[in-house]
Amino acid sequence: MPSLTTENYIKAIYQLDGEWNLPAKQSSDGDASVRQAVATGAIANQLSVSPGSVTAMLKTLRDADLVEYAPYEGVRLTASGQRLALRVLRRHRLIELFLSQTLDMPWDEVHEEAEHMEHAVSDRLVDRIDAFLGYPGSDPHGDPIPRSDGSLDTGRGTTLTAWPAGQTFRLVRVLDQSSDFLRFLTASGLELSAVGKIIDHEPHAATTTVIIGDQTTVLSEHVADKLIVVNH
Ligand SMILES: [Zn+2]
Repeated sequence: MPSLTTENYIKAIYQLDGEWNLPAKQSSDGDASVRQAVATGAIANQLSVSPGSVTAMLKTLRDADLVEYAPYEGVRLTASGQRLALRVLRRHRLIELFLSQTLDMPWDEVHEEAEHMEHAVSDRLVDRIDAFLGYPGSDPHGDPIPRSDGSLDTGRGTTLTAWPAGQTFRLVRVLDQSSDFLRFLTASGLELSAVGKIIDHEPHAATTTVIIGDQTTVLSEHVADKLIVVNH
């Protein structure tokens, strides 16, 4: 079984590669050649470790055939690296949903718990949780849940930044899952499935003003970029 560190690296590389909206990611044949290379500095940032430890770990992952890595060229997951990433994400997201649905944990608390639990549960237990929850398609943040066969639905929707003013939207996915960010969304009425409308985009200030119910909120571009919406 891969170590906790291995799983965290593989997951980080997968997510830095732009999990969102990359059709190549969904190909079930796991063709790694079309993927973007991830910079080692970005991995160091994401995992809060030194570039030196990243380099050392990447050699280990390369020896295990989980990544393709050449110094100064960045990193790509191999087909087996992708499979591992999807298995870890499957565990993570099903645990999040389980905690939220059976223990009523709020969406800003489940991620932190799942970060620990995802390395401790077996795939067999996760399959049982999957069946218990009725084979759900997405987790409490709207992230699609990889299936046991390793397939994953393509992301749908568009960022709130790209959504036209005046048109009603429904929030279906949140790309930043830090507790602070999610609590801010809750306070602004922006929970998953919330329906709202954009009053305007202000390109010079890089803000988007939304109204949800009778609550008006001004969002920075940074925030609006993390919210995925669809037609209501
Ligand atoms: Zn999640």
